[in-house]
Amino acid sequence: MVVLSFTVRGRGINPCADLSVETPDHAHLHRAERLVEYVLNVATVTGPCLLHSPETRVQHSSEIVVVGAGAAGLAAALAFARDGFETILVGEASMARDGRTVALLAGSVRFLEALGVWPEIEPDAAPLETMRLIDDTGSLFRPPPVAFRSTEIGLTAFGWNVENATLVGRLGSAAARAENLACLTSPAVSYEPTASGARVALADGTKIDAALVVAADGRRSKLREAAGIQARHWSYPQKALTTILAHDHSHRQASTEFHTRRGPFTLVPLPGRRSSLVWVTSPEEAGRLAELPDEKLALAVEKQAQSMLGKMQIDGPRGVVPMTGLSVDQFTAPALALVGEAAHVFPPIGAQGLNLGFRDVAALRDAVMDAGAAGHAPGSEPALSTYRRGRTVDVALRTNAVDSLNRTLLSGLLPLDLARGAGLLMLAGVGPLRRAAMREGIGPSRGLPRLMRPVGPA
Ligand SMILES: Cc1cc2nc3c(=O)[nH]c(=O)nc-3n(C[C@H](O)[C@H](O)[C@H](O)COP(=O)(O)OP(=O)(O)OC[C@H]3O[C@@H](n4cnc5c(N)ncnc54)[C@H](O)[C@@H]3O)c2cc1C
Repeated sequence: MVVLSFTVRGRGINPCADLSVETPDHAHLHRAERLVEYVLNVATVTGPCLLHSPETRVQHSSEIVVVGAGAAGLAAALAFARDGFETILVGEASMARDGRTVALLAGSVRFLEALGVWPEIEPDAAPLETMRLIDDTGSLFRPPPVAFRSTEIGLTAFGWNVENATLVGRLGSAAARAENLACLTSPAVSYEPTASGARVALADGTKIDAALVVAADGRRSKLREAAGIQARHWSYPQKALTTILAHDHSHRQASTEFHTRRGPFTLVPLPGRRSSLVWVTSPEEAGRLAELPDEKLALAVEKQAQSMLGKMQIDGPRGVVPMTGLSVDQFTAPALALVGEAAHVFPPIGAQGLNLGFRDVAALRDAVMDAGAAGHAPGSEPALSTYRRGRTVDVALRTNAVDSLNRTLLSGLLPLDLARGAGLLMLAGVGPLRRAAMREGIGPSRGLPRLMRPVGPA
């Protein structure tokens, strides 16, 4: 049910009249809004002493409210709406281009296929068939380059790389036309638990009551704070420069990660002879590079890439992102679940961040479906405890792995170099270990959410 409540004020009505209109569902919301508009217009026009309040307060109720229209929030809203939950998405999708791409691993692509959006994304995505790691630290124990091929584990590709803004734009278009999904653009300002779930208030005064609140509002999550969930923040002495490059040689569907003393320098394929760059380096160096004219930056990238893709040209906007990390002590609060960067942040190494975020969403969807089959509400403790249990290990494992690799690169300590080098040597040589590492790299070997599995029922 949707309630539109509004206030009529004026000299003739003292002190004021509170009126409300109820509609059975979101499909009737537009008609109800027109009715309110009509009443207010009539009041303003016909009664000289009637003035309507500048604020029309709107109250909604829904089964699920998702806050944050980034990739994780959009995917969550689409997933719940697809399963027939009456869903509201709060927030505005940002399509600002900053040269940032996301490599979506196989499980994430299967998830987007299940949501019905992958066919619209795929034409702008490039497959990642080979992943190369090159130690460029100058360490005494420098192992030879290692290359992993997706065919070794029976996949046509490890994943697909696409511009972040394109991904968000396509998910946003799908959300705008999805059934069971209403989109509100005003930002959320508060969350409070209620007897039947939780209430979210928006900056424009709208109140939404829902059985479950999905907080997908990013690393500075207001809802996480309002729910009293503690977050641990940390930072690295690094920034990442991002951009898109056109180059003379084909990338042959291979991404290459050079491990340098200042952080990883990664080129990831895009359709055609184009690649995206994530150059993690010192803040000073990132600042210097970001200020270079296009030709000089292209030359610097070509040099750092050891000319493996030939002559380069800058072919997109640039961005500079500080390297930070975040972990939370709880993934849930009463009738609330955190997903995506509201729950975890780490440096862009090994294409893990959003893939982990999509696994949060798909795991939450499974937990809610299973709880529903047992007669429990979406935000009930059985649903939330299943979600919590399922996410803790996966998120901790990825956060620690990325953090350790980044810190061993930065440390320059011989024993750490040795350990990293030995690890890479083993991955290069030992077949079963190599295949196990590849499988684990693209997602957890056990407990993958149902919509991410290669086969099997949803
Ligand atoms: C350089 C770089 C490269 C990366 N490469 C990869 C990669 O290859 N593969 C990968 O998997 N990951 C990658 N990542 C990580 C990935 O980009 C992030 O994990 C992902 O974009 C986070 O999505 P999100 O939806 O959780 O958060 P966000 O994108 O931050 O979205 C949060 C949304 O919530 C909105 N919001 C905030 N507050 C409110 C409020 N109060 N009310 C309503 N809305 C609100 C924001 O406006 C925003 O739209 C990379 C990251 C970086 C920096």
